[in-house]
Amino acid sequence: MERTLSIIKPDGVAKNVIGEVIKRFETAGIKIAAMKMIQLTKVQAQGFYAVHKERPFFGSLTDFMTSGPIVVMVLEGEDVIAKNRKLMGATNFEEAEEGTIRKDYATDIEKNVVHGSDAPETAAFEIGYFFNDLEIQKR
Ligand code: UDP
Repeated sequence: MERTLSIIKPDGVAKNVIGEVIKRFETAGIKIAAMKMIQLTKVQAQGFYAVHKERPFFGSLTDFMTSGPIVVMVLEGEDVIAKNRKLMGATNFEEAEEGTIRKDYATDIEKNVVHGSDAPETAAFEIGYFFNDLEIQKR
């Protein structure tokens, strides 16, 4: 069993697709082990995306991520990191496969509705960034 961190970004919350995104996870057999709605500060967004701090889009991305509430979730299931990435689609929604969350709901390369950890090490860091052990259920 594997865990990953999922975020419904401010654009996804604003577009009222929280339920739609969660439905796709549940339909795929993925279980939600933790969930909360929060609004990040700039410093918290910078810490979360620290791996991207030298990238040209870092300032804009961290502004966007603080622009409204987000939904953070721990997802659990077999091979859930890869499964979630597949449901999300490519970073750039124009390159995303048909039927993926980003293809269906993204606005541009930045406002792409969802975040999902890309590897076990990043999942461990990202889950720990938002949740302690007591907040994560065994599903
Ligand atoms: N992003 C952006 N411009 C880019 C590349 C990425 O604004 O040229 C944003 C986008 O919101 C993306 C996030 O930065 O989801 C993190 O980028 P990453 O390459 O890690 O993509 P992801 O893992 O989210 O698909």
